[in-house]
Amino acid sequence: MSQQQQDLQRSRRNFIKKGIAGLAGTVVLPSVLKGETGTQSTPAPRPGQKGKFLYRTLGNTGIKLPIVSMGVMNADNPELVKAALDAGIVHLDTAWYYQMGRNEEMIGQQLKGRPRDSYVIATKIYEPRDKETGLFPPDAKVDSFNEKFQTSLKRLGLDYVDILYLHNVSRKESAMFEPYLEALKKLKKEGKVRFIGLSTHRNEPEVVRAAADSKAYDVVLTSYNFKQQYLADMESAIAYAAKAGLGIVAMKTQAGGYWDGKEKKFPIDMKAALKWALQNENIHTAIPGFTTFDQLYLDLTVMEDLTLTPEDKAALQPPADLKVTGLYCQQCEKCIRQCPAKLEIPTLMRSYMYAYGYRNLGEARQTLDPVDLSRAACNDCGVCKVKCAMGFDIKDRVQDIIRLKDVPRDFLA
Ligand code: SF4
Ligand code: SF4
Repeated sequence: MSQQQQDLQRSRRNFIKKGIAGLAGTVVLPSVLKGETGTQSTPAPRPGQKGKFLYRTLGNTGIKLPIVSMGVMNADNPELVKAALDAGIVHLDTAWYYQMGRNEEMIGQQLKGRPRDSYVIATKIYEPRDKETGLFPPDAKVDSFNEKFQTSLKRLGLDYVDILYLHNVSRKESAMFEPYLEALKKLKKEGKVRFIGLSTHRNEPEVVRAAADSKAYDVVLTSYNFKQQYLADMESAIAYAAKAGLGIVAMKTQAGGYWDGKEKKFPIDMKAALKWALQNENIHTAIPGFTTFDQLYLDLTVMEDLTLTPEDKAALQPPADLKVTGLYCQQCEKCIRQCPAKLEIPTLMRSYMYAYGYRNLGEARQTLDPVDLSRAACNDCGVCKVKCAMGFDIKDRVQDIIRLKDVPRDFLA
C-alpha cells in the first residue's frame, strides 16, 4: 500500500471512530497529526513517476492532500477526471448545481470501483439569500438543503462525502446562520459528512474569520490569487483561520485566466499563478479548474516543484501593452453604491468571468439566474455612473452578459 493510501486510510479510520463516537453522543476532538504541519514531500503514488508530490495537511481534519486538487466545475470530460485520479490527484471539488447535476454524476461514474479511501470528495449546497445583503431569510428552512444533499450523495454514488460546504457565503452572519450550521453539524454527527465547511468569494476576509470563530467549521474554501487588491487582509484572515486549525482550500488562483477582457490576447500564466498561491503554506491545497490534459500535466508539475522561478515572477507582472483590465472582479461592491439602479454588478461580473474566462456558459447562466435584472436600466443611463475598482467598462459588460438570460437553458445544459 502506498504512503498516500496509508495516510488516507488513517484519516478515514479517524472519521469512522469519530462518527461512531458522535452517534453515541461523545465529543471527540479531531486528530491532529503531530509534526505534519507545513509541506511534506512524499513519494508519488503513480507508477513510473520520477518526482515526489508535495503534500500538506488540511488543518485539524488530518487529511493529507497533494497541494494540487481538481476543481471539477468547468470539466465535462470524464476521461480528464479519470486521468487526474490516476495521476495522483486525490481531492475533487464539485457542487450540487454544477452543470445542473451532471458534474456530480460524472464524478460518481469515475469513482466506481476505486477504494473509498483513495479519494476525497467535496461538494457544496447553495441556498437562496437576499441578493443585496447576502443574508439568508430568517424563516429559511433546512428541508431544501437536506434534499439537495441527498441528491448529491445519490449522484456521486456515495454514502458520505468528505467535505460539505455551505456555498458562496459573503457575510459573517450567513456563516453563522444557525439553521444551516445546525444542518451541517447534524449531517456530520450522522456520519454522512466527514467535515463541514463554507465557500466564499466575496467579502472573504470577514467570512474566513467568522468560520474560524464559529468553532464549528473544519474547512474553508476561499478565493486567493495574486491580483486581489486586499491581499494583506486576505492573508491575515487565512493565517488566523489556519492557526485555529481550519483546513484552507484556495480557489480562483488563476484570477480569471486572462490579463485582458473577452479579447483574451493575454492569458495569465497558469503555472506561475498556481505556484504563487501555494507559496503561502497556510493554503493546504488549491483546486484549479483545469479542463484539458495539457493543463492537468502542467498542474502535476506544480505538485512536484513549487519554486517560483525568475520567469514565473516575470509572468505575474501585467503585459506592458495591456489596455484593459482582466476578467477578475474583486467583488468589492463599490459599484453597487454608484449605480442608481443598485444593480448586483459583482455577481454579473462573476458571471461574465465564467462566460469569457472559463468558457463555462452553464455556470455563467446559473450565476446570472438569481440576479434581479428588472432594474438593469443601462440603456436609459447614457453614461454609466460606475467607476469600477478594476477599470471595467461596466455598462458594456452588463449589457453583454445579460443577453445570456435569453438563451434557452437546454442550449447550455
Ligand atoms: S467595483 Fe469593479 S471590481 Fe469592485 S465589485 Fe464592482 S465590478 Fe467588481
Ligand atoms: S449604465 Fe447600468 S451599471 Fe452603469 S450606472 Fe447605469 S444602470 Fe448602473
